[in-house]
Amino acid sequence: MGNFYTDNPDLKFQLQHPLMKRIVELKERNFTEKDKYDYAPQDFEDAMDSYDKVLEIVGEICAEVVAPNAESVDHEGPKLENGRVKYATGTQVNLDALKQAGLMGMSLPRRFGGLNFPIVPYIMAADIVSRADASFVNIWGLQDCAETINEFASEEQKMRYLPRVCQGATMAMDLTEPDAGSDLQAVMLKATYDEKTNQWYLNGVKRFITNGDGDIALVLARSEEGTTDGRGLSMFIYDRRNGGVTVRRIENKMGIKGSPTCELVFKNAPAELCGQRRLGLIKYVMALMNGARLGIAAQSVGISEAAYREALAYAKERQQFGKPIIEFPAIYEMISVMKAKLDASRALLYETARYVDIYKTLIHISEERELTKEEKEELKKYQKWADL
Ligand SMILES: Cc1cc2nc3c(=O)[nH]c(=O)nc-3n(C[C@H](O)[C@H](O)[C@H](O)COP(=O)(O)OP(=O)(O)OC[C@H]3O[C@@H](n4cnc5c(N)ncnc54)[C@H](O)[C@@H]3O)c2cc1C
Repeated sequence: MGNFYTDNPDLKFQLQHPLMKRIVELKERNFTEKDKYDYAPQDFEDAMDSYDKVLEIVGEICAEVVAPNAESVDHEGPKLENGRVKYATGTQVNLDALKQAGLMGMSLPRRFGGLNFPIVPYIMAADIVSRADASFVNIWGLQDCAETINEFASEEQKMRYLPRVCQGATMAMDLTEPDAGSDLQAVMLKATYDEKTNQWYLNGVKRFITNGDGDIALVLARSEEGTTDGRGLSMFIYDRRNGGVTVRRIENKMGIKGSPTCELVFKNAPAELCGQRRLGLIKYVMALMNGARLGIAAQSVGISEAAYREALAYAKERQQFGKPIIEFPAIYEMISVMKAKLDASRALLYETARYVDIYKTLIHISEERELTKEEKEELKKYQKWADL
């Protein structure tokens, strides 16, 4: 039976980095949840063992289910039916397999039904999924958005949305518009507060939204009338069950075809404010993008891994001039350079993930108690390094 985790010793090498001791200690708050949840780790070794076991499950599902489905997903692609997205058959099978294995909401706290995993093993799972199907990781990996709800939403909103993510609800991040791409300050989708119903309503168009028909979306919208820059934008949570958003089209892309990139029309779509008004772009999108960047980096590393393995296998199998082409120095060099670049990019990915793990967990801890002087310095140091 294939396994995309156990067949790749580089992953275990990264997972066993010495900094993991500190990451686990912080993430598990010195193992205070061990008496509350039977699946919470007792100590560092127990935590590492649970990451290893879960990644083994990810590796097996990816090798046995996701990778074999990738070609048919690419050919079939998602379809638009009455303003809704229907995933390719294989995409739905993949999603169900990962859901059943409890691999949604991996990094969320246990009280919401998550696994409370640090970013490192979660990103490793994304690396493995990307090797199997780079389009599928776009859908599965959007569980990242839940981190923004966990960081900035009210306790009541967290209790309503996060358990759903852990049970398999998919997410979307609705930022881009036809006239607001790199320049998100130009976002125009309008958020209006209705005093009578005590409710925000969204009107406008979003474009290039991955998994735009997901169950729960974070939407960047202009809540402050008369403003034209980033300070007039707020973040909203949209629940698809409330209606008001239709998918107008799915982009026809050159690659990652299994991932639906959607144009969305919002018509009086009810939504909830997430966090404070005016901080949508300057604070929440920045945090959201930091998580998304690690996810995209993991996707790139996973694709490189798949490409390297494909190239190596072909170079060993293909014969010319009576011998496998890998024996020609020019080919051998190309493959070696691929491997060197793959190892270097993977090292950079996990080093950054470790820094983000430490500083983000310290930020969460600072909301529970005051940090010590050493912890404050530690937070500052790792945040600075992560931002490099
Ligand atoms: C497959 C896919 C999935 C996506 N998924 C999502 C999603 O889930 N949610 C979401 O909100 N958005 C999503 N996007 C949109 C993506 O974030 C935007 O495409 C991106 O922000 C760039 O915007 P744009 O395409 O309008 O390009 P533009 O901003 O118009 O840029 C055009 C070109 O100009 C360059 N450029 C722009 N500004 C500068 C500058 N200041 N200096 C130098 N060069 C500059 C750009 O690098 C680019 O080469 C997705 C896009 C794609 C292709």
